[in-house]
Amino acid sequence: MAPRILIVEDEPALVTLLTYNLEAEGFSVEHESDGEAAEQRLKDEAPDLLVLDWMLPGLSGIEICRRLRLRDATRALPIIMLTARGEESERIRGLKTGADDYVVKPFSIPEFVARVRALLRRADPGRLANRLAAGDIELDREVRRVWRGGREIILGPTEFRLLEFLIEKPGRVYSRSQLIDSVWSRDSEIDERTVDVHVGRLRKALDHERASNPIRTVRGSGYAFDETYRGPFATELSE
Ligand code: CA
Repeated sequence: MAPRILIVEDEPALVTLLTYNLEAEGFSVEHESDGEAAEQRLKDEAPDLLVLDWMLPGLSGIEICRRLRLRDATRALPIIMLTARGEESERIRGLKTGADDYVVKPFSIPEFVARVRALLRRADPGRLANRLAAGDIELDREVRRVWRGGREIILGPTEFRLLEFLIEKPGRVYSRSQLIDSVWSRDSEIDERTVDVHVGRLRKALDHERASNPIRTVRGSGYAFDETYRGPFATELSE
């Protein structure tokens, strides 16, 4: 299962931007714009990580945070607090609300995503260890599943192993015979054309209208996962 993130934020444009980019990274995202509604939802079911705006209608982010820390079920819930630039962010740090991290608006999306990953990793080291990600593609070794842009991609077992092998070392070029040795079992009789067939199937499965294909053909050599591939990041949030 993709880690679930709840965003509690009352600025629709920011919610849209964060949702788009977190989903593109393979996370499952839900959102609330009102403090009280968020509190109710958090009582029913805790996400894997909470992104919480400080200033909210209904109930402030600080108060939600304080209440979450009082309950056993949410005492250790990873929380990233969003604050406005200036005095408020200084004050909020002093308040010791119990948030794990603070992000001051405006912020860069790649940095925000990196903080989300870091916090999830700290909270549950095993969970992300099984995950390989590049741009908007995420692969989970444990459950043998792949997502692109938050949507699951169904791959055959050979295509899965091919992607798993290539995505581990972006930029590294593998010849067809190296791929046969690594991806297929030793006793199978595979010729090099078969590699091309499975790479073709993998590309087709990964095909996505809004982004280029990350599996690169290196003429005369073989195949590589494109190391420059970043996925369709939205532009950074401006003032
Ligand atoms: Ca707000």
